Amino acid sequence: ALVLGIETSCDETGVALVRATPEASELLVDAVASSVDEHARFGGIIPEIASRAHLESFVPTLERALAEADVALADVDAIAVTAGPGLVGPLTVGAAAAKALAVALDRPLYGVNHVIGHAVVDELVHGLFPDRCMALVVSGGHTSLLLVEDAVTGVTELGHTLDDAAGEAFDKVGRLLGLPYPGGPHIDRLAREGDPTAIRFPRGLTAAKDQARHAADFSFSGLKTAVARWVEARQDAGEELPLADVAASFAASVADVLTAKTIAACRRHDVGTLVVGGGFSANSQLRDLLAQRCAEAGIELRIPPIRYCTDNGAMIAALGAAVVRRGLPASPLDLAVDSSMPLTQVLV
Ligand code: ATP
Ligand code: MG
Ligand code: FE
Repeated sequence: ALVLGIETSCDETGVALVRATPEASELLVDAVASSVDEHARFGGIIPEIASRAHLESFVPTLERALAEADVALADVDAIAVTAGPGLVGPLTVGAAAAKALAVALDRPLYGVNHVIGHAVVDELVHGLFPDRCMALVVSGGHTSLLLVEDAVTGVTELGHTLDDAAGEAFDKVGRLLGLPYPGGPHIDRLAREGDPTAIRFPRGLTAAKDQARHAADFSFSGLKTAVARWVEARQDAGEELPLADVAASFAASVADVLTAKTIAACRRHDVGTLVVGGGFSANSQLRDLLAQRCAEAGIELRIPPIRYCTDNGAMIAALGAAVVRRGLPASPLDLAVDSSMPLTQVLV
């Protein structure tokens, strides 16, 4: 089956085509338009601007995808669209487009979960999900550990961040350090030149008393405050900031906590494969530490290449393909988008 995937939950307009067979999913094309530059001067996403950008970009992005794949709209067998979580306005634009296509082409419509898409996109690279695995989804809005018995019908959330998401913490610390928005990639780049052991920043929710109740939960706001205090103290003393060391020490704390808690969860649940996804999984400090410690722990690590980590249509087409492969019923044509769609609800 040829599955069209549509993603508009935030500031990326994504349209992709995936060919699904019982054994595999093959990506034909992944077209993305972004309005990130329009938000940069505000230091955060402005939903109204993002909605309008989706409206303007959708048809050109769809046409570009079809042309690049040399596919006619009539060849599409199913349409998958992000139903949530995300920004209501942007989600609504994508859902309206998907519904219009489903009606016009008389094809089934599948409203799917964006965050689960961040994990399932890995099927395009490393083959179908194993029968049982752990998934760590780390992005701008989410940091969650999922036990996956089935990528569509068997997702359990073991834990999540109690405050900031990992990407959000990077973006906030980026602002603190005077870096452009979004700060995540800039901190990553700076951190590669710094000493990760220069400053010992706190590791959130890793104390023995927290492990009992929050073994699979995360917290990054205390770390963010610790970085702010450290930076203020230097500035008050009139000292120059060792930016690279601050970035490296901060990034090391985030990578350490994510990696340690995830590997511990794999052990607790006797899981041998870990899939990592979401925009923050582009982070090189996290990728390096996960690779090292998973190898030591004998855990198979699956992380897609960086171009599949941030928001795109391929992740939604891949999840749509997984739904089609399972023969699950289509979503209603009047499906409502859900800005806070639970991670256990993969399909509307
Ligand atoms: P969600 O998927 O939870 O709805 P989102 O779609 O806004 O959130 P993504 O696009 O998946 O988030 O990820 C964007 C986030 O990833 C931003 O916070 C960005 O700073 C961060 N990010 C991207 N690349 C890197 C990197 N190399 N290092 C650190 N952070 C990064
Ligand atoms: Mg984005
Ligand atoms: Fe995302």
